Amino acid sequence: MSEFNSNVSSLQALKTWKTIPQLYRDKLVRNVFCGNCKDVVEIIQYSITENKYGLILEGKCRTCGGPVARVVEKE
Ligand SMILES: [Zn+2]
Repeated sequence: MSEFNSNVSSLQALKTWKTIPQLYRDKLVRNVFCGNCKDVVEIIQYSITENKYGLILEGKCRTCGGPVARVVEKE
């Protein structure tokens, strides 16, 4: 289970994130592509921000520690 680190997350983005069902959120954080590992990895120590396309998760790859990010597009 990823520990949520909210120091750079915006409150609004966090609110939006929390509206996503927990099961689906777990899936999202475990389904991030890492360019370094060239594989799907889990994102850890991530922050959440929001732009017009949706939520942006930025953090580290659990496997190699490199930076990874993913966009969660709005419906
Ligand atoms: Zn990696």
